[in-house]
Amino acid sequence: MESAVNNGCCPEHGAPGGSNCRAVGPHKVPGDSPLAWFAGMVGHCKAHALAARAAGRPIVGIMCEYAPRELIFAAGAVPVCLCGGDPDTIPSAEAHLPTNLCSLIKSTYGYLVEKANPFLEMADLVVAETTCDGKKKMFELMAEARATYVLALPHREDDPDGLRSWVEELRRFKVFLENRYGVAITPERLREAIELMNRERRLRRELAELMKMEDPPLTGRQLLDFKSIISGLPDDLDQYERALALWRPRERSGSATHDARGQSPECATARQQPVRVLLTGVPLVHGAERVIEIIEANGGLVVCQENCTGLKPILEDVRADAPDLIRALGEKYYHLSCSVRTPNRKRLALLAQLATEYRAECVIELIWHACLTYAIESFHVRRLVENELGLPYLKIETDYSPADSARIATRVAALVETVRARTAAQHKWLSGVG
Ligand code: SF4
Ligand code: SF4
Repeated sequence: MESAVNNGCCPEHGAPGGSNCRAVGPHKVPGDSPLAWFAGMVGHCKAHALAARAAGRPIVGIMCEYAPRELIFAAGAVPVCLCGGDPDTIPSAEAHLPTNLCSLIKSTYGYLVEKANPFLEMADLVVAETTCDGKKKMFELMAEARATYVLALPHREDDPDGLRSWVEELRRFKVFLENRYGVAITPERLREAIELMNRERRLRRELAELMKMEDPPLTGRQLLDFKSIISGLPDDLDQYERALALWRPRERSGSATHDARGQSPECATARQQPVRVLLTGVPLVHGAERVIEIIEANGGLVVCQENCTGLKPILEDVRADAPDLIRALGEKYYHLSCSVRTPNRKRLALLAQLATEYRAECVIELIWHACLTYAIESFHVRRLVENELGLPYLKIETDYSPADSARIATRVAALVETVRARTAAQHKWLSGVG
């Protein structure tokens, strides 16, 4: 079994003999790297939230990628993602919630019970959506302790009235925010917020696109760290620009310097290439990154993350020049292909597109235990991947506990061996034909 860290071929890292050259693993961040900035993400966000609140700006908690951050910004408030990734808060949640519930929901709620999330403690309001049943019902309990506004998300993808209804829902939310915070959300304020979010989405997209390269400069785990629970922080945007300047192919060509994975062009050619993985399924929120670390410690390289902590929410921008900005906002968010929608064909189309663009050699689907919508939808995903894309597929169902890490590692290692054997057989066949 290969290790993600320090088993490289590069003598500069003093770790010869390994098949993967990744002297800088997920937890070894050089001090001057943009990665070092994002390693301090929670601290930066806390400082920003405290300063904003001191300046009279309300903190608004959000729970899902359907939350229109732009409207919250335009109301003068600060949207903060409250999704929990810590297994330690789960026992407290289980005093109120069923044990057989997704870890993400329990961890988030456990923070409320323990009063342990400083952002939730600061929050003046929580914005929730009618997504999965577990979240919807948890929000009812949360609403007893926090002011909560629930956005009604239409679930039927092909309902002709769905988009109209969602846009009307956003118009009502705008009025609610205006009344609560005594501000007018003018087109100018909203356009400014849209442009800020569009800029952040574009920069994050461009960073993700670095993973299309034959030899990407980042691991998937490192890329996952390039985001904050508060969007649009000016320092974050600067660091995205800096990372792109450092690692874009144009800047790398002819350079002998090491990329974020700790490999020079020379050592990259000498090592065994990791298997390119497309990761789909549930989000890997801050603190719940265990599975991607296991994949990359066992011969995989996650070149594409389709989920809500990856590409899915940042692929589409909002039209800042639209005559009706609320409608433009509604359209962008309505297109997000979560498994709570039915049917959810857009997700399958997106997976097929991303598998091609990122040259995935296999697909791994992560599902938190008791997440029924992703678990059931995995039937369609497996069929697409195996029958239409012709790629190996692995489903990992787990929770936030590390108890099954060794078992997951064994399954990932077996998948990697399958892909390598397949590739070797294809090369053999092609050389025979040649
Ligand atoms: S997976 Fe669905 S419910 Fe979860 S954050 Fe994404 S859109 Fe929201
Ligand atoms: S992972 Fe599934 S069950 Fe958990 S919050 Fe998201 S949609 Fe709901």
